[in-house]
Amino acid sequence: MTKIENNTVARVHYTGTLPDSGEVFDSSEGRDPLTFLVGHKQMIPGFERELMGAKVGDKVEFTLSAEDAYGEHNPDAVQSVPVEMFGGITPEVGMTLMSDLGPFRVTEVGDKEITVDFNHALAGKSLTFNVEVVDVRPADDSEIMHGHAHGPGGVQHDEPVETPEPEKKQCNDDGCC
Ligand SMILES: [Zn+2]
Repeated sequence: MTKIENNTVARVHYTGTLPDSGEVFDSSEGRDPLTFLVGHKQMIPGFERELMGAKVGDKVEFTLSAEDAYGEHNPDAVQSVPVEMFGGITPEVGMTLMSDLGPFRVTEVGDKEITVDFNHALAGKSLTFNVEVVDVRPADDSEIMHGHAHGPGGVQHDEPVETPEPEKKQCNDDGCC
């Protein structure tokens, strides 16, 4: 049976909780399993590491430090911006908005200044995952070339994916053929 290792495609069901409060921050329950190509930085670092060697049917529980998950909270990514910058939008605490620099959350609303945080919402937090392995298969060459999974749950391309031809044996002068 195939085990999860680099260059396999894994499909897993998972529930992520905050270990301090038990609050569920994400879950694949009621959705298709999460599908990813292992060893190509598709997932947060600790997630793949903890699943290495797991097989179909295995249930794995682990807690990651912030460093192994979404990184430490970077105080430089918290900024005050004048309320005029929001144009027609009335900023409220907890809102996630998009900017040229990426998504940010509104963390404080003042009369003139709004505090925004560009950190990932889960930065600085340790995370607990309960994972059940649903499927593991070796990745094919095109998936490894693209750096992501194809097929169910993976990236769907409009154009058919060409699998590179195996290199033909070249005749040379040593009388091989
Ligand atoms: Zn692709």
